[in-house]
Amino acid sequence: ILRIENIKKAFGKNEVLKGVSLDVKKGETICFIGPSGTGKSTLLRCINQLTIPDSGKIFLNDEEVTHAGPRINYFRQKIGMVFQNFFLFDHLTAVRNVEIALLKVKKMDPKEAREKAMFELKQVGMADWADHYPAELSGGQAQRVSIARALAMDPDIMLFDEPTSALDPELTREVLEVMKKLAVEGMTMLVVTHEMGFACSVASKICFMEHGHIKEQGTPAELLNNPKFERCKAFIGEFR
Ligand code: ATP
Ligand code: MG
Repeated sequence: ILRIENIKKAFGKNEVLKGVSLDVKKGETICFIGPSGTGKSTLLRCINQLTIPDSGKIFLNDEEVTHAGPRINYFRQKIGMVFQNFFLFDHLTAVRNVEIALLKVKKMDPKEAREKAMFELKQVGMADWADHYPAELSGGQAQRVSIARALAMDPDIMLFDEPTSALDPELTREVLEVMKKLAVEGMTMLVVTHEMGFACSVASKICFMEHGHIKEQGTPAELLNNPKFERCKAFIGEFR
């Protein structure tokens, strides 16, 4: 469903991605782990062109996302993204946050958009909070609304960049539950996370990133029980 071919990105002299390639099949959940500053966020941002790679190509369903020109908005609908800090509109209620893109981008009629938004809120267990503003929500609730907002666009794939790292353990659990449910239902997901428990139980594959490369990849069992690189072993040990 997604093909990443030899992506490189430098910020000035800082080579952040040094040629990353990856094939993602429909329904897979790929978790990215690795030390800070190794390009995990940059890789996710390259996938939906929030960051433009210097070279390399990205394909979604065999259509090229890189160099998409004005079609980039089409791809951004197909590639949902959830960030660490939610990025909800403070002046809009939960349901308005979810439906706004349906109205403005998809030009859906208001009744249909509201139904769709409520459906997605229900999916993440937030239907009862539809009329609340972000300030009235816990971090976990806000994050679940931002997941509903991404889902409302009917994406082919969802990118999560440390979706729980701003949350305390209780709230982390409720967000991970929602993500696990999505994975079980067959959503294709790329997840940057330090939650080894989640990675072990949900990931089809874990990629360990270091110095701008995917240094090691494999099933959770392969990576957790028998990592080839000392650095990977140590990293997993730290977070387990
Ligand atoms: P973390 O685990 O801390 O989130 P990461 O693996 O996600 O780290 P990135 O955020 O991808 O790492 O950043 C990799 C490097 O790229 C860092 O050295 C960072 O300073 C640099 N970088 C990222 N975005 C920019 C930018 N817009 N301009 C300049 N440098 C940047
Ligand atoms: Mg990051």
